[in-house]
Amino acid sequence: MSTHYDLIILGGGPAGLSAGLYAARNKTNTLMIEKSMIGGLAIYAELIENYPGFPDGVGGMDLSQLMHKQAEKFGLKTLMAEITNLNLLENPKTVTTSEGEFTASAIIIALGSERVNMNVPGEKEYVGKGVSYCATCDAAFYRNRNVAVVGGGNSAISEALHLTKFASKVSVIHRRDKWRATPIFVDKAKANPKMEFILNTTVDAVIGSENVEKLVLNNVLNNSKSELAVDGIFVAIGQSPNVQLVKGTLALDAGGYIITNEKMETGVPGVLAAGDIRSNSIRQTISAAGDGATAAIYAARYIEE
Ligand code: NAP
Repeated sequence: MSTHYDLIILGGGPAGLSAGLYAARNKTNTLMIEKSMIGGLAIYAELIENYPGFPDGVGGMDLSQLMHKQAEKFGLKTLMAEITNLNLLENPKTVTTSEGEFTASAIIIALGSERVNMNVPGEKEYVGKGVSYCATCDAAFYRNRNVAVVGGGNSAISEALHLTKFASKVSVIHRRDKWRATPIFVDKAKANPKMEFILNTTVDAVIGSENVEKLVLNNVLNNSKSELAVDGIFVAIGQSPNVQLVKGTLALDAGGYIITNEKMETGVPGVLAAGDIRSNSIRQTISAAGDGATAAIYAARYIEE
């Protein structure tokens, strides 16, 4: 026997949490399912300075916890479970998870995106032994050590700035000489004496014995190789959408993101998508939260009809 809800929200990042808040306040009987950490990728942001209402910025983890507390206060139910299968085409829709099966009249997909890896020799082997994808989680292990951060976006700069609190030197390795990160963020990084920038450079290999010891670097302008001694490397080179469960059911754009209209509706009635997983999302906490609110309102209208 599966438990039925009016609405099931898949994913507990800012989009799912905001959808949960709006749905719960609308008295829509709602379950939100998250597999690992409430907050999604936002938890990796050391300081979010562009979410309105926090003039001094707010930690991604803190903001996520506040959002969750607020949604649960109004009646959102949360299940920590892995989603293993979805049947979105029949009514009610079925969500199969590691903790059992659930049905719903409407579904909001807010599964966000996952960090991508470099796919170079040594990367996989040294995960947990010097290769990390989360400075917020692992920075404290690198007190007075030398570390590298790969990437030129806001994630890379944010991780690098966080690492300067612990490490003695943080080398940011970026494949171009133009930053994708917001200029105000880059300026902050440039002003930090612990930071070094290695531009027009990619990582060819991660080398070590028990733990990471050095990186083989490639200068993309002249293909010259060099080595950089490091104790750790943090990879922050972007994200890919978590669409494995909806491939073949929902329309995706060329990048693999779910196509929606301005109401967050996918082509399948009663199935909406919100946040980073959505095509043309600007992938910000504020836009994910906005998407979630919109999706919850149109999901409620669908359920009422
Ligand atoms: P991103 O903006 O897509 O940046 C990815 C970076 O990795 C780019 O600089 C890219 O280089 C580089 N890259 C991609 N593939 C690579 C490869 N194979 N080898 C080497 N470098 C590679 O991703 P993100 O930094 O994770 O940010 C995602 C979104 O979250 C953005 O919208 C960002 O603004 C947001 N975010 C916001 C905050 C905040 O406000 N506090 C913090 C973190 C993230 P190119 O530049 O050459 O393409």
